[in-house]
Amino acid sequence: MLTCNYLGRFAPSPTGALHAGSLATALGSWLHARAHNGKWLLRIEDLDLPRCIPGADKMIIQQLMACGLEWDGDIEYQSKRTAFYQSALNELINSQKSFACRCTRKQIEDALLSLGHKKQRHEELMYPGTCRDKKDIVEPCAWRLRVDDEDLRKTVGDFVLRRADGIFTYQLAVVVDDALQGITHIVRGADLLDNTPRQIYLQKQLGYKQPQYLHLPLVLDENNEKLSKQTLAKAIHTDSPENCLKALQAAAKHLGLNDERLYQENASRVSKWLEIAIENYRAILKSE
Ligand SMILES: [Zn+2]
Repeated sequence: MLTCNYLGRFAPSPTGALHAGSLATALGSWLHARAHNGKWLLRIEDLDLPRCIPGADKMIIQQLMACGLEWDGDIEYQSKRTAFYQSALNELINSQKSFACRCTRKQIEDALLSLGHKKQRHEELMYPGTCRDKKDIVEPCAWRLRVDDEDLRKTVGDFVLRRADGIFTYQLAVVVDDALQGITHIVRGADLLDNTPRQIYLQKQLGYKQPQYLHLPLVLDENNEKLSKQTLAKAIHTDSPENCLKALQAAAKHLGLNDERLYQENASRVSKWLEIAIENYRAILKSE
């Protein structure tokens, strides 16, 4: 593990190449780390393999390199770290903080309806605690976290740590990785904001230190929707230094960087441009 006062990270899922939105997040977290003289790690979140696109990790890596967003240390792949997630889950099971659940989506919906809850619009259902006190464990089953926090119970309930198909969830993996890698600052897109209370709660259950969080505004398309694979966001072009600069300029504009030198027609080389961007970002941090 790298020892450093500031350790940040960028953790893309390899579900496609970087688009304007994910580049803005990458640049934002990179600048935040560099402006603090910190280190910045790269982690590929490839646990949900069916959603991953073969080769997307290589594309992302190439795009980051072309844009000069270099990382420190080795790239970590979550798919190679499942032993860590299992051991954290075991710890929670042994301390009775996690329980087995075989409820189907339909059963959870019915349980919620019988409790007087309306159908929820979000994809994720608030879990009403049905299996909390069941003693028999029949595989395959999901493992959920026993949630005793009032607010979290109302919003998500006992959330899943490992799915019945054996895949560890984003919530568990990200919390374990951030803790084991010693991440001190998490700078990410605002779309992940509603995950943060769950992750902080899980950190507490595992006795982990809580990192600092900063959520960046999302880049929206003309329909005011978040840029994503689902909304067919276009990959940024990084095939030439000029295109990299264009993509970086758009990301910088989104982040509110205002140094004119960043937007000149003939902006200098990528490395020089990034130096100016760090300077600009530091000035913004100081003025806050
Ligand atoms: Zn259940």
